[in-house]
Amino acid sequence: MIRKVATWLLAVVLLAVLAFLTLGASFVDRRMNTVILKPPYRVSPAAQALHAKLRVADMHDDLLLWPRDPVARGTVGSTDIPRLLDGNIAVEIFSTVSKTPRGQNYESNAGNSDNITALAIAEHRPIKTWTSLLERARWTSLKAHDAAERANGSLILVTTASELARELAGREVKKNVVIGLLSVEGLQVLEGKLENLKTLYSLGFRMAGLAHFFDNDVAGSAHGIAKGGLTPFGREVVKKMEEKGIIVDLAHVSSKTVDDVLAMATRPVVVSHGGVAAVCPGPRNWTDDQLRRLASNGGVIGIGFWDAAICDATPAGVAKAIRHAVDVAGVDHVGLGSDWDGAINAAFDATGMPLVTEALLAQGFSEDDIAKIMGENVIRILLQGLPKG
Ligand SMILES: [Zn+2]
Repeated sequence: MIRKVATWLLAVVLLAVLAFLTLGASFVDRRMNTVILKPPYRVSPAAQALHAKLRVADMHDDLLLWPRDPVARGTVGSTDIPRLLDGNIAVEIFSTVSKTPRGQNYESNAGNSDNITALAIAEHRPIKTWTSLLERARWTSLKAHDAAERANGSLILVTTASELARELAGREVKKNVVIGLLSVEGLQVLEGKLENLKTLYSLGFRMAGLAHFFDNDVAGSAHGIAKGGLTPFGREVVKKMEEKGIIVDLAHVSSKTVDDVLAMATRPVVVSHGGVAAVCPGPRNWTDDQLRRLASNGGVIGIGFWDAAICDATPAGVAKAIRHAVDVAGVDHVGLGSDWDGAINAAFDATGMPLVTEALLAQGFSEDDIAKIMGENVIRILLQGLPKG
């Protein structure tokens, strides 16, 4: 009898392991990356005509985290190269997510647990990625480069200002190209070593968020426990990033870190994805005072497409948050930071990007202002901030 029960138990455990290894990652992807307004989308001919002329840039996309072929058109989540092309997105910044705490929330998280290990195993990533956050970044970079190689010219990764300028010019002729850049979400991937910044650079990463959902040895997070500022190591890191042409990203960081970085930055920074507190209060959304200081730094905030960033996850809600950010910071300091496929319930998927143009028209923005907000501001930051090449 006992032996029979043991055999059954073993069978159940083996089945569970098998299910985890074959279906687990896709199951989580499907559950965590959802879209409120389903495609196909319709916009006015005027909005469509304007949108087609724009150079659209979006500062944050977590597509590479999930078990999907970035090059193949899919129906899960919000993005892949075909859907980004449908949305006329010229520049997309793809992030590497290395570690997220269990029970992740916006208020307070310790850094001593991690969901990504299970995902790495379920996605059959190399064993090195199970234990090393830096290896997770390397794996993301390899995945991006592999996708670009298979994309038939529809995804081109760039690492310098001259490459970006060349590809933007090329795109004027041959429209169907997404220009990709790589970013890091949380510099815990440095594993405490400044020399690992060199590794990230050689892997093609050109933007990095200092912290993600927990305080790390670089900086305090808006969602951490202590929510402190830049550490002495963090100061060295920021200095080195500016030297190398890796753009500093203040998304997710604590207000003390915002203060510390803005006090020392000699180059424009970004908030790759976030919101504004006056429209949508929340621990990571920027106050008017912070927005003004971001403007004097020359930086850009990317307004997100999910509920906790804008409190009204609709195209009109995106435009309303943008309107406030522009009123406070000025039209040169606001852009897009969708957070598509960042475990969010997105307002719309990438094919719906023209809805934002339409909503900005409805907000009364001029075509020139819309061009800046939809991409030109981010492109300016990239051309200024990336290594010349
Ligand atoms: Zn994020």
